[in-house]
Amino acid sequence: MPRVKLRRAPIESLEVDDLTFAVRWSRRRRTIGISVARDGGLRVLAPAGVPARKLESAVRAKLPWVRSKLAEFAALGPPPQRPRFVAGERLPYLGRTHRLALVDAGQLRGAQVALRGGRFEMARGLDGEARAAFVRWYTERARARLGARVAHYAPLVGATPAGVVVRDLGTRRWGVCDGRTRIVSFHWELVLQPPEIIDYVVVHELSHLHEPNHGPRFWRRVAAVMPDWKRRRATLSSRGHRHTI
Ligand SMILES: [Zn+2]
Repeated sequence: MPRVKLRRAPIESLEVDDLTFAVRWSRRRRTIGISVARDGGLRVLAPAGVPARKLESAVRAKLPWVRSKLAEFAALGPPPQRPRFVAGERLPYLGRTHRLALVDAGQLRGAQVALRGGRFEMARGLDGEARAAFVRWYTERARARLGARVAHYAPLVGATPAGVVVRDLGTRRWGVCDGRTRIVSFHWELVLQPPEIIDYVVVHELSHLHEPNHGPRFWRRVAAVMPDWKRRRATLSSRGHRHTI
């Protein structure tokens, strides 16, 4: 009778104290990674073949960090509801919210979204296209504002980027500075934040043209242009991605 080698299937979750981590195995990974999602979801990213014991001890070593992240996200409150783009709903722009009115497309002269007289106007009947139309509107506004703020701050920081790009940077980053191409990129969602927060991210990314890392020299450069940067950074992290659309 042939001997059947019994192999235990890799575990799919890991309990450590009162916490349950989903385990994702990867052949490409070499190190054990741990992540905490905004909704409190816990994950272990495990290189294929690592014994469960070893995963558990790696998770245990990071428990204080995991708990502090969970507390931080809990303090932010429930994740924001995605807007439904219905009449009367309030939508954010530059740290404030404006009521949405649905209007006939003809009133918008070819545009799909406008901000007029303190209210958002959107063409009736966009339905499933509404979010995309708003993202385009926010992205255009972000290009104009970030271009102008970079032009304002570049001489003060003493660094001019080769280009300014506005795009979707995901849920973790507001800005990126590429030291090689000297292009600075910003998330279009920045225009949902108040102007003083936008300016902080601009000064932060421009300062990276001098200093790639967040060392003392970097923060001295930021402070030279923006003495109250700490307060602005704290406001930014307390707002989190509250205003995502
Ligand atoms: Zn940075």
